Amino acid sequence: MTDQVAPAPSQAVEVETHRYVYLFKEVELAEQYVGGDWEGVRGLLGGKGANLADMTRLDVPVPPGFTVTTEACNVYLDAGDQFPPGMWEQVLAAVTEIEAATGKTFGDAQNPLLISARSGAKFSMPGMMDTVLNIGLNDEVVKGVAALTEDERFAYDSYRRLVQMFGSVVLGVDDHLFEDIIEAQRQKYDVKSDADLPADAWKEMTQTFKEIVRREAGIEFPTQPFDQLKMATEAVFKSWNGKRAIDYRNAAGIAHDLGTAVNIQTMVFGNMGEDSATGVAMSRNASTGENELEGDFLINAQGEDVVAGIRITEPMSTLKSAMPTLYTEFEDIAQKLEGHYHNMQDLEFTIENGHLWLLQTRDGKRTAQAEVRIAVDMVEEGLITKEQAVRRVQPAQVDFFLHPQLDEAAIRATTSFAEGLNVSPGAAVGIVAFDADTAERWAKEDGLKVIMVRPETKPDDVHGMLAAQGILTSRGGRTSHAALVARQFGTPAVVGVSELEIDLISRQMSIGDLVVKEGDWISLDGTTGNVYLGELPTFVPDIKNPYLLKLLTWADEFRELGVWANADYPRDAQRAREYGAEGIGLCRTEHMFFEPERMPIVQQMIMSKNVEDRNEAIDKLLPLQRGDFEGLFKAMDGLPVIIRLIDPPLHEFLPAHDELVKDLADLKIRLQHFDNMAQIERTLDEIQEKQAFLDRVEALKEQNPMLGTRGVRLGILIPELTKMQVRAIFEAAVKVTKAGYDVHPEVMIPLTSHVNELRSQQLTLESVAKDVMAENGIEVNYKFGTMIEIPRAALTADEMAEFAEFFSFGTNDLTQTVFGISRDDAEAGFLVDYIQMGILPENPFATIDPNGVGKLMDMAVKAGRATRPNMEIGICGEHGGDPKSIELCHNIGLNYVSCSPFRVPIARLAAAHAALNSKA
Ligand code: ADP
Ligand code: MG
Ligand code: MG
Repeated sequence: MTDQVAPAPSQAVEVETHRYVYLFKEVELAEQYVGGDWEGVRGLLGGKGANLADMTRLDVPVPPGFTVTTEACNVYLDAGDQFPPGMWEQVLAAVTEIEAATGKTFGDAQNPLLISARSGAKFSMPGMMDTVLNIGLNDEVVKGVAALTEDERFAYDSYRRLVQMFGSVVLGVDDHLFEDIIEAQRQKYDVKSDADLPADAWKEMTQTFKEIVRREAGIEFPTQPFDQLKMATEAVFKSWNGKRAIDYRNAAGIAHDLGTAVNIQTMVFGNMGEDSATGVAMSRNASTGENELEGDFLINAQGEDVVAGIRITEPMSTLKSAMPTLYTEFEDIAQKLEGHYHNMQDLEFTIENGHLWLLQTRDGKRTAQAEVRIAVDMVEEGLITKEQAVRRVQPAQVDFFLHPQLDEAAIRATTSFAEGLNVSPGAAVGIVAFDADTAERWAKEDGLKVIMVRPETKPDDVHGMLAAQGILTSRGGRTSHAALVARQFGTPAVVGVSELEIDLISRQMSIGDLVVKEGDWISLDGTTGNVYLGELPTFVPDIKNPYLLKLLTWADEFRELGVWANADYPRDAQRAREYGAEGIGLCRTEHMFFEPERMPIVQQMIMSKNVEDRNEAIDKLLPLQRGDFEGLFKAMDGLPVIIRLIDPPLHEFLPAHDELVKDLADLKIRLQHFDNMAQIERTLDEIQEKQAFLDRVEALKEQNPMLGTRGVRLGILIPELTKMQVRAIFEAAVKVTKAGYDVHPEVMIPLTSHVNELRSQQLTLESVAKDVMAENGIEVNYKFGTMIEIPRAALTADEMAEFAEFFSFGTNDLTQTVFGISRDDAEAGFLVDYIQMGILPENPFATIDPNGVGKLMDMAVKAGRATRPNMEIGICGEHGGDPKSIELCHNIGLNYVSCSPFRVPIARLAAAHAALNSKA
C-alpha cells in the first residue's frame, strides 16, 4: 500500500485484471473473492452496496446498478487521487450492462439512462459524501426526457436537482444558495410545495443554479455525462478523507483504512406525477417495536425531499388507503427481508408510475424498548431463536427501563438541534449554562435544572457537571473527560457534536441558523445522542414491561451465575426479589445503626466508660436488630441472606471533629453572657457532653480510618458487639422459622486479613448460635463466611477456607488495597487524568481491573476451592452490576454476583451474555 514505485510490467497485467466493479447481480463473485463471508462482502461493497446486491439476488425489485469497491477507493487515495488501472474501463463496461438491462443509453438524448452515485462504507457514516441523483442530464438530454415523458416540469425539476446536488455535494457549493432561490420562486408563484412550481420556474432555476456553480466553484457545470459520473465517483472517494468523516471515525472508533464504495444505480423517479412517490419506512415501529410498517412518504417527490422536511410527509397508513396493492407488495417485501436478515429493516423506496422499487435496506435503528419487544416477537414468530434474542439485547439497553426518557411525541413535535455521541444514557432537560460555576450556582442557589455545555470539560469543571442534569460538549470522544465523569455519576451526556459552535464570549451556541443562548431550554438524550430545542416532557419507563420480563426469563435459561442483590431493608429485599434476585448477597447491618432513633444508643455504646455501660447499650440494640432481620428473612423466604457484621470505623457514628470544636467554642462564648443560673447550668452540661464526645472522637482518631479499626477488628476488640449481632440474627431466624418461613442466614465477617481473625469470630458465633437454637429447640441451617477484600485474605484463601464456608469479594476495598489508592481522593483527582492519558484503560472502580484485581480473585477462588471444593463464592458491591465485571466473574467461576436491586435485570442479562460468550 505504501509502495510509491510504479508496478513492474508483469505486476501491471495482474493489476489490470483485478476486479474493482461488481454488478448488483454479481454478488456471488464478490462472495467468492472475499472467501464466502458476508462481513467480508460488506467490507468490500460497503453496507449499502452489499445489501442492494443481496436484495437483487432475493428478487426484490431493485433498479439495476453496480458497486465500485472500497478497495478501489483505498488504491485511489493511496495513489494520490488516481483511479486504479482498469477501474474506469470496468465502470464503462458496467454502464453498458445496465444500459442493456434497461434498454436505455447513458447520455443519449432520445432514450436517456439516468443514474445516481451513492456513497456507502461498511458502517454508515455521517460526514461522508451523500448522493448525486439524475446524473446524465444536460441541456440536450433534458429536452429528450421532457419529450419522452411529455412532462417538462418533471424534466427540469430533475435537471435542477442534478445541478444543485452536483454543486453542493461534488463541488462544495453552499446548499443554502440554491435553497434560497427555490424559496424565492415559491413566493413568486405563491405556492407552498415544490411540486406546485411550474416547468418554467424550474427551467429558469436550472440556469441560475449553473451560474451559482460557475461563480462559487469557479468551473462550468460539466455537460458531458461521463465527466459527471467520473467527478462524482472521485468526490465520493475523496470524502472518505474529509475532515468531518475523519473526526467521526476517530470519535466512533471506526478504522481509517476501510474506504468507501460507490454505488452507481439506474434512476427511478418518484416525481413523475400522482402515481409516483418516494419514502422511507421501518418494517416495525422503531419506538415501540409494534409489528407494522412505520414511515413517511411523499407523492410526486424525489430522493431526499422526505427527510429534508421541506414538504409535509404522509404516514404509511395513507399509502395503505391510497395504493392498497402497492402497500401489500411492500409489506411482503419487508417481511421477506426481515426473514432474510432476521432483523427489523429500514427501507428506502420509490414508486415510479405505480411501480415499486427498493433503493436501500439495512437493520433499523430503534429504541431500547423496541429492541426488546422486537427480539421477543421475532422469537415467537419463529424468525430468531431465544439465544439470538438474548444476545441481541444489550445490558445497557435494559438500563433504558431505569432512567427517565424523553417523550416520543414531544420529540417529533420539536426541532432536532444536534446529534453527537451517546456516552451516558438517560434524558436530561434544563437551561444551558456555559461554565461550571454558573451551572453550579443556578442549580444550587436558584434550584434550576441546568445542562452544562462546554467545548470540552476538565477536572476543574466537575463541580458544575455534578450539579447539572446533563452534559453537552462539542469536542471529545467516548473516553473524553466529559464522557467518563458523566458515566461515573450517571449523568446523561452527549459529547463530540462537531458542528456545534460555542461562543463563550457572547454566551451562545449555534448550528447553522439555530442559535441557543445561555439560559435557553434544551433537552438531550444520552441514550441516542440527540439534542433538541426546548423543554421536553420525560417519563420513566416500566421495568415490569412484559416483553422485558419474558426476555429476562430466557436469559435465566442461559446464565450460569446466580444473581443476588444488596439490600439492607425488607422493602429493598422485596423489590430485589420482584426483579429476580435469588438471594441477598449483602445486608449492611450498620445502616440500621444510622437510623435517627438508634443513633443515641449506638453513641451510648461507643461513649461508655466501662463494660457494664457498654453492654447495657448493646442490649438495647438487640431487639431492634432482631426486628430488622425478621423482616428481611420473611421477604427472602426460601432464599439465602448474607448478613455482614458491623464494618465502618466507630467515629462515623459520632459527630464530626471540626463541628464539635466549633460548637464548644460557641457554647463557651455564650456562657460569658448568661446571668441566669439555670441557663448557665444547662450550658455547662452541654459543654461537658460535647467535651466528652470530642475526647472520644480524638481518642478514636486515626490517620487512615479506612485502614484502621474497622470490620472484623471491631468485632475482635468488642466481642459483645459480635455476640449481640449474631444473637439478633439467630433469634430472628428462629422466630421466623417458627412462623413457617424457610430461612437461610449466612453470617459474613468483613475486612479479614488473617485466618486467626476468622477462627476467633467463628468460636464466638458458634457458641451464640448454639445457645439460641438450644433455647428455642429449633435448628437453623446457616453458613459462616468472610469477605475477601484485603489482598492478604485473597493470598491466604486456602487457609481462610478452613473456617469460611463462603467467600464474598468486596471488590471496592480490594481495588483500593490492590492499587494502593483511596477511591474518594482518586476519583476527584488523578484517576480521571490517568484514564484520559491512557495510563489506565478504564476506571477500576467501575469495571474490575482484570489483570490485577481479577487475577487475584481468580487465585483466591482456586485456593479456596482447593481447601473446600464446593465453596460458595460471590461478589458484592458495585462491580456486581457492571456487565464487563460480570463476565469476569463468570469466567473465574463465581457462583453469583450481588448488586443493587435496580441492576438485577441488567445483571441477569449480562450473566446470560457471559455464559453464551464463553460457550462460543
Ligand atoms: P443516504 O446514505 O444519505 O441515505 P442514499 O444513497 O441512500 O443516501 O440516497 C438518498 C436517497 O436518494 C435515497 O433514499 C433515494 O430516495 C434517493 N436515490 C438514490 N439513488 C436513487 C435512484 N437510483 N433512484 C431513485 N432515487 C434514488
Ligand atoms: Mg443523506
Ligand atoms: Mg439511504
